[in-house]
Amino acid sequence: MIILKTAAALQQFLQSFPGHPHQTGFVPTMGALHKGHLSLVKKCREERAITVASIFVNPTQFNDLADFERYPVTLEKDTALLADAKCDVLFLPSLAEVYPDGTGNLPEYDLGEIGDILEGFYRPGHFSGVCQVVHRLLSMVRPGHLYLGQKDYQQCKVIERLVNLTEISLQLHIVPTVREHDGLAMSSRNMRLSPAERKIAPAIYEELCRVKANLGAEPVSSLTKHAVENLLRAGFSKVDYIAVAERDTLAGVDQPAPGQELVVLMAAYLGGIRLIDNMEVIA
Ligand code: AMP
Repeated sequence: MIILKTAAALQQFLQSFPGHPHQTGFVPTMGALHKGHLSLVKKCREERAITVASIFVNPTQFNDLADFERYPVTLEKDTALLADAKCDVLFLPSLAEVYPDGTGNLPEYDLGEIGDILEGFYRPGHFSGVCQVVHRLLSMVRPGHLYLGQKDYQQCKVIERLVNLTEISLQLHIVPTVREHDGLAMSSRNMRLSPAERKIAPAIYEELCRVKANLGAEPVSSLTKHAVENLLRAGFSKVDYIAVAERDTLAGVDQPAPGQELVVLMAAYLGGIRLIDNMEVIA
């Protein structure tokens, strides 16, 4: 695995491959890697000739400064994991490389409704920051394929919108969520949970399963109400949302039609840690 820190060095390296950009797959990350990230690398390696992963903790997508400052950094371990996974290139740009003119005057994107609801509502500015960094990274890597995790369901939709808005020629690939043995979705934030919180955390997955199992039998409003109550009873301190939504628009659905393809999305706090998860369901 080669480690490159500038867009110029990366482009010089990639241009030497006849398959670039059509056979280049890109896996952007913020580091603190786990098996979820590595599943994206694995999928990309299976499907593409060149796999580029990046690690960059993007300050512009943190609506909460404390969350940014506490974001885990485990670069040595991450590098070893990516090398073991046979990633071809690790792109490690500096803040100045990503934002040469600073972060004060970055573009805003017209994301429409999808940018304002759910995560967009509870984390104002978050998706602007995601788009700013993804747009910059895509312009530096110029891949033909982008690999994203279903774990961040709404983020996938937002990035799809960004790709359409900017007319970047790119194919998106969404990789299923990797979970711990007890169902907890793997996340870099999980390492900040105390042992007691870690025991409570799978309740979010259990509630997703419960909503899925009862979707036809119980009204959506009572399903989501009970899920909120159950999470609070389990020890979660606050539930931002539990929503049953259309898969494309993420618009809330109160009365699902039989056979309708939907997704259940949740965000809740366990102590100071905000966890999100989702599950696709068919009504
Ligand atoms: P992050 O480092 O959190 O920005 O995540 C980088 C990429 O890994 C994003 O596309 C995430 O959706 C994806 N990802 C994070 N956790 C998981 C998981 N448990 N399973 C699959 N993909 C994941």
